Amino acid sequence: MAEISAEEVKGRRRERSRVRRALGLTQAAERARYARSELDRARRREAARRWKARNPEKVQAQRVVAEMIRGGHLTRQPCAVCGERAHAHHADYATVIEIKWLCPLHHMRQHALEGRLAR
Ligand SMILES: [Zn+2]
Ligand SMILES: [Zn+2]
Repeated sequence: MAEISAEEVKGRRRERSRVRRALGLTQAAERARYARSELDRARRREAARRWKARNPEKVQAQRVVAEMIRGGHLTRQPCAVCGERAHAHHADYATVIEIKWLCPLHHMRQHALEGRLAR
């Protein structure tokens, strides 16, 4: 057994409580972050539900696109403007076949150009 001085013992104790304090803080922060993300998820779910209720034709168009991709009739493509990951934009929801692939940013811009709200 190695002898340790009283000073060393004190130093180690200080170090341990410092680590405990730091961990306690991160745990609290982690819990707060988790609670926030849960709230965000619930809000997003609710917003998505309301959007679907308001836009049945768009939900239908998205369903058709998803089915066409699954069936191999359509391939998901990168954004036509910047090459980022994109989703389908319908020039007209009545003509589901006319699809432009755009990332969220350029999708929003496209809708601004067309003068109607996104999606
Ligand atoms: Zn883009
Ligand atoms: Zn769109």
